Amino acid sequence: MSDIVSICVFCGSSEGNDAKFVDEALVLGEKLAQQNITLVYGAAKIGVMGKVAEGALMHKGKVIGVIPEFLKVKEVVHLGLTELITTTNMHERKMKMQNISDGFIILPGGFGTLEELFEIITWAQLGLHQKPIGLLNVNGFYNHLLQLLENMVRNGFLKTENYELLLVADTTDDLLKKMRKFEPMSVPKWLESDNV
Ligand code: AMP
Repeated sequence: MSDIVSICVFCGSSEGNDAKFVDEALVLGEKLAQQNITLVYGAAKIGVMGKVAEGALMHKGKVIGVIPEFLKVKEVVHLGLTELITTTNMHERKMKMQNISDGFIILPGGFGTLEELFEIITWAQLGLHQKPIGLLNVNGFYNHLLQLLENMVRNGFLKTENYELLLVADTTDDLLKKMRKFEPMSVPKWLESDNV
């Protein structure tokens, strides 16, 4: 895997009700800054999102926020970022975040976070990008989701090799190590002969 220069983080616009979610977001921001990795994220100053940015900025990291015009209300948008990119809609925003990032990390969150995770992993499954996707399983938050994915594999809806596109770790250090070691599949699995 080539060097990781920037990582896009998807996570909650709420803080959740376990202090560990916020703590881990701050740690992730700090580690990205220390490893000279630019943080790309949804530009909000609220929720877990805001904490990742705070962690990175506190340690002199570079932070790029990407936000659609309609979400850019003064109470929500972080005005202290290194760079703020405004898009016309959510689709353009996610395309931009994908284009300028070398990998993706998912922290705890709600519908928006899951939508972002599943879009980016579906694009990987289709071979549209070959970037590492890491799930930070803070305090077992995603255990039930992982069980659901295993159930999809057992029931023949998800191939094991596509399930394995999702790198999972309990700590930021382990996750970043896995992401740096990630070797993308050379051929998208759906193009293999058993499927055509
Ligand atoms: P959720 O997990 O439902 O809280 O949604 C979080 C995700 O949706 C983030 O990764 C953002 O990309 C996006 N999002 C939701 N609310 C906002 C907001 N107020 N400002 C910026 N992005 C948001």
